[in-house]
Amino acid sequence: MNKNLLKIYETDASQLKGKALDVVIPKTILEVRNIVAKSRRIVPRGGGTGLAGGCVPQNGVDLVLDLSKLDIIGSYDKERRTIEVGAGVILDELQAYLMLYRLEFPVKPASHAIATIGGMIATDAVGSRAVKYGKTSNWVKWVEIVDGYGNLHRKGVTELSDYSGMEGITGVIVKACLKLAPIRKRSASLVKVENFDEVVAIVHKLKRDSSVSMVELLGKQVSEMLGLFEPDESGEVKSAYHLIIEYEDDSGMLNGKEYAELFEMRDKIGPMLSGGGYSRLEDPKILLDKSDKLVSWFEEHGIPFFGHIGVGIFHPRFDHDQEKYIPEMIKLVKKLNGQISGEHGIGILKRKFVEINDQKILRNVKKRTDPENKFNVGKVI
Ligand SMILES: Cc1cc2nc3c(=O)[nH]c(=O)nc-3n(C[C@H](O)[C@H](O)[C@H](O)COP(=O)(O)OP(=O)(O)OC[C@H]3O[C@@H](n4cnc5c(N)ncnc54)[C@H](O)[C@@H]3O)c2cc1C
Repeated sequence: MNKNLLKIYETDASQLKGKALDVVIPKTILEVRNIVAKSRRIVPRGGGTGLAGGCVPQNGVDLVLDLSKLDIIGSYDKERRTIEVGAGVILDELQAYLMLYRLEFPVKPASHAIATIGGMIATDAVGSRAVKYGKTSNWVKWVEIVDGYGNLHRKGVTELSDYSGMEGITGVIVKACLKLAPIRKRSASLVKVENFDEVVAIVHKLKRDSSVSMVELLGKQVSEMLGLFEPDESGEVKSAYHLIIEYEDDSGMLNGKEYAELFEMRDKIGPMLSGGGYSRLEDPKILLDKSDKLVSWFEEHGIPFFGHIGVGIFHPRFDHDQEKYIPEMIKLVKKLNGQISGEHGIGILKRKFVEINDQKILRNVKKRTDPENKFNVGKVI
């Protein structure tokens, strides 16, 4: 591949930079198998939207395996409500096709316009509707993977965890059978809450309501940046958190145009914070009942945050000067028995924070599935 094109493959959405030996773009599973069998070090890549450097090649020795041309949307099984897709299919393209049947793949990460099904399975992506639909792996019936020798295997639900959420260190996902859900009529509400204890109480209640499909939190700083603070009757402007609650019926106050405008506002948060210099995004996950401690810590350090509070995932955004606080945040998350990454993965970025015991478990899985250590060397473990 020519040098200019090669550059595109030397980074992902994390902005970490690496160097590739070369890039190959196979069009068939057979080509993938042949490439893997002949190569020494391989970095699988889907849409390149990963935020942890998972598909960034290292030291000019990694061959990038771009899977985007495995993009066939295969047979739809009406009776089982499943569909077979190539790993390179982009989520939005699949959704557009499924509209024909009034169905959808219900896990929708915010990167849906570019992320591929293979990348979503490899990172076990979580969407904003996780409170109802969970993670990508909850909606996968089987995957086909290519192992380090170039052999093809089909793995069902019981072995899925060797590949989903493993960030491509155990094999190349080439095809999957996905479960589908009917498209629902949806409404939403934006609720202002002044103190965080009240936020926790409301979220607990919402989690018991089966019509709720999304509970998103906007921290006070983010609420203010979005212009959501309004004076009360006395003219006083009080800071507050906001909850975006989506329902799969008519329970929400906002429908149609107002519903769409609410989510347009929600989608502006990332670009707004990046534009304000808060470019480093983190994704700790914590139990709801312990989240007050994390929220207090963000507020003490002036770190704006939002997140999928329905499943305990927070998105603090750090500016350049605040990045020095990230190890302290990770220490706090571990002390509170949380996870250092709720959805973006470990990749290169958070590798140094993985506990020794977890490394051992992951190494054992990798030894079993990739004995020659070909895939994503230097990532996760
Ligand atoms: C604006 C933005 C919003 C985002 N929002 C969310 C969100 O809401 N929820 C969420 O969970 N994530 C989110 N992400 C992170 C990212 O989009 C997801 O992790 C997504 O699943 C990655 O898919 P991808 O195809 O881009 O994978 P890539 O970035 O190409 O790869 C990610 C990892 O998976 C491996 N991989 C990719 N394809 C394969 C394959 N076929 N076989 C084996 N390994 C493979 C790579 O080696 C790498 O380690 C967001 C990212 C951005 C930039």
